[in-house]
Amino acid sequence: MSESFINIDYIENLLEDAKHSSDELISKALKKAENSEALSHSEVAALLLTENPLHIARIFEIAGKIKKRIYGNRIVMFAPLYVSNFCVNRCAYCSFNHGNDFIRSRLTMDEVREEVKILEMMGHKRLAIEAGESDKECPIDYILECIKTIYDMKFENGAIRRVNVNIAATTTDNYRKLKDAGIGTYILFQETYHEPTYNSVHHAGPKKDFLWHLNAFDRAAEAGIDDVGGGVLFGLANPYFDAMGLLLHNEHLEKKFNTGFHTISVPRLCPASGMNINDFPNLVDDDTFSKITAVLRIAVPFTGMILSTREEHDMRKKLLQYGISQLSAGSCTEVGGYSKRNNKPNPQFIVNDDRSATSIISELMDDGYIPSFCTACYREGRTGDRFMSLAKSGQIGNVCLPNALMTLCEYSMDYGDDTFRQKTNSMLEKEIPHIANETIRIKTMENIEKIQSGNERDFYI
Ligand code: SAM
Ligand code: SF4
Repeated sequence: MSESFINIDYIENLLEDAKHSSDELISKALKKAENSEALSHSEVAALLLTENPLHIARIFEIAGKIKKRIYGNRIVMFAPLYVSNFCVNRCAYCSFNHGNDFIRSRLTMDEVREEVKILEMMGHKRLAIEAGESDKECPIDYILECIKTIYDMKFENGAIRRVNVNIAATTTDNYRKLKDAGIGTYILFQETYHEPTYNSVHHAGPKKDFLWHLNAFDRAAEAGIDDVGGGVLFGLANPYFDAMGLLLHNEHLEKKFNTGFHTISVPRLCPASGMNINDFPNLVDDDTFSKITAVLRIAVPFTGMILSTREEHDMRKKLLQYGISQLSAGSCTEVGGYSKRNNKPNPQFIVNDDRSATSIISELMDDGYIPSFCTACYREGRTGDRFMSLAKSGQIGNVCLPNALMTLCEYSMDYGDDTFRQKTNSMLEKEIPHIANETIRIKTMENIEKIQSGNERDFYI
């Protein structure tokens, strides 16, 4: 049964009232956030809308503290893998739009292997499969075959250990098949929660059905998928409306299935072939985008936040401080893009951070972050409410930190040069003492020694 948990009037009234929030109300909300108390809808709306520089500075400060307290300085790395750009939908913002004159292709399994080999050579252990929607050219069986092909590949340095999937909303039966194939997170962006805007940018195809798209995670949950990632495409509608929509969606899933979003992505509209970005009247400026990201960090502290290479280097660097916990690196948004990087490009949209994975990872370390290639929770079955209770109990520090350090050590041995290994060693020395549990600390040191002295790999807690 399709249902809408998004009430346009309710959100619009919240946003209208928030315009007149008193300084007292905002200060109270900030105090609550600082003390890890849950905020009401009107308090979140007030933070989103405030234009007072003092309040905004406090929002960043608190978001930064929350980020540090819950996620430490770990940043989980991943890369997208585009497998097919056939699409029956007509989304006004996307170059895969059925009406766009575009070279269409779908990877063969040999090509999937070729792409994955290159991604593995960059050190990636976590991929996100991306595809347009086409039952004919890209049916669920094809996606399942891609997943199996990737999981079956074994390299000298291990394997791709987690395959997330970002494909169009589908049926409960298909979600069951994805679950059985061992997917990591099922990612789907609502694009916008504002139904009139949704209808105006989705011109044709199954995705045009707002409720079909909105209830996709309900069907996924009914099929047993308890690890889902939401997002909106900032630039389509009023960004404050969409930020509130994300929170209401998360609450709906928590209430109904006991588990909300595992991650929230914050993609911002980029130029793409077949569209003119200036035709979109709600583009979001950098300051607003940063503020929204920080408020989301405050509102849902235990939900991972993902930033892609849609954002430029400087913005990525900035938002890592205020909320982002997962980053893509070395990404290509084109089918077959990794193996034919230098030929005529044909991307879904133009990426803004086109540095290599190595340089992104290296810079993260220079800035004091620990790039993490950990995939342990998913492999240990710590998903859904099991993951949330781990995060909420604070035990995440005794699990994620050692796993981040062990996987970084692996990365440095398998893909780094001498300088990078030295950098890693300094980081290990500095960070290992921060593992609070003594038994886990000793185990981590033993494992790191095994990784450094031999060919043993893939340790995790
Ligand atoms: N086809 C599936 C769907 O639409 O849900 C999933 C994969 S699609 C390749 C991934 C996402 O790319 C979309 O959800 C959309 O938000 C985003 N996207 C499309 N065009 C974009 C653009 N011009 N700039 C930034 N992101 C874009
Ligand atoms: Fe197709 Fe997804 Fe692009 Fe829409 S956003 S045209 S569904 S690939």
